[in-house]
Amino acid sequence: MHEPFKGILISRDEDRKQSVAVCDLTLADLSDGDVVLEVETTTVNYKDGLAITGKAPVVRRWPMVPGIDCVGTVVTSTHADFKPGDKALLNGFGVGESHTGAYAEYARLKGDWLIPLPDGLSPLDAMAVGTAGFTAMLCIMALERHGITPDRGPVIVTGANGGVGSVAIAILSKLGYTVIAATGRPQEAAFLKDLGAGEILPREELSGPAKPLGKERWAAGVDAVGSHTLANVLSMTGYGGAVAACGLAQGMDLPTTVAPFILRGVALLGVDSVMAPLPLRKQAWSRIARDLDREKLQALTSVIGFDGILPAAEAIMRGEIRGRVVVDMKK
Ligand code: NDP
Repeated sequence: MHEPFKGILISRDEDRKQSVAVCDLTLADLSDGDVVLEVETTTVNYKDGLAITGKAPVVRRWPMVPGIDCVGTVVTSTHADFKPGDKALLNGFGVGESHTGAYAEYARLKGDWLIPLPDGLSPLDAMAVGTAGFTAMLCIMALERHGITPDRGPVIVTGANGGVGSVAIAILSKLGYTVIAATGRPQEAAFLKDLGAGEILPREELSGPAKPLGKERWAAGVDAVGSHTLANVLSMTGYGGAVAACGLAQGMDLPTTVAPFILRGVALLGVDSVMAPLPLRKQAWSRIARDLDREKLQALTSVIGFDGILPAAEAIMRGEIRGRVVVDMKK
């Protein structure tokens, strides 16, 4: 490895004003850990956008190297499960929030947070999926645990053009589900249909205040949007259905009533990727390797280099990114 190396640093001045810069770093700038990775690929998630723009209090320690997930090659390790040369994958555990993260040539991490790069996924594939796609898989697995199967009826996916939404559509359609894609970008209808959406729903139909109960239109949902959208999704979920909620692109509030729960037995399933336990993590990544069509993954992914990270973080906050952005550190 070499020092200094390039990385992005979020700092805060005495007035708590945040600034972001590309800097020369050394290992001494990184949080403690028992494994040093040379970062090969990373990605720009919604949470990275929040951290870099400072639009939400994601960063909890300054200065911080952002970047919540990566694949890298082990350079040094005192952890029993990893040795130099191994390829390892990291997502979550507060990396890029309270522990320095992926947007640098090297990352120092805890071996207990890493998993070996899953068989069948390249470093580019894994970060094309990234935390957003991993969360989509967790949502689908939550619905499956609730007994949702393709023959129960359609599944609605909100925030369809986003990272969680686009990967959820691709996986659900491969598993045989009929998918309804709710989007504010109808001009992307062809893209969403290519991913496997059977129907496009304008997001305006879901973004206003919800009735306690609406017409039963779907058996289940994957919601990345929260707020009125989630309330509407719940109110139109069929008897005994379930909605996996993972996001807040519209808002953190949930202006709903108990009607869907007590009159239709609808279940609201909360999904968190950050602290997902290791066995669930490994299971989700191996399901991704099996159940996500690689051609669809490529179709929903754009590849950028390190210099593209900051502009992409701004763009994701403006809702302009379609699908997933993967960062090839060598590009
Ligand atoms: P993206 O920005 O890629 O996608 C979000 C999508 O939501 C947009 O593309 C847009 O889709 C839609 N959207 C944006 N603004 C609004 C709005 N005001 N009203 C309705 N829809 C809107 O983000 P990700 O897919 O990466 O993440 C989605 C959410 O999931 C975020 O809130 C993120 O924080 C959360 N998340 C949570 C995780 C967890 O562990 N629980 C892990 C990963 C993400 P379209 O243009 O198609 O309408």
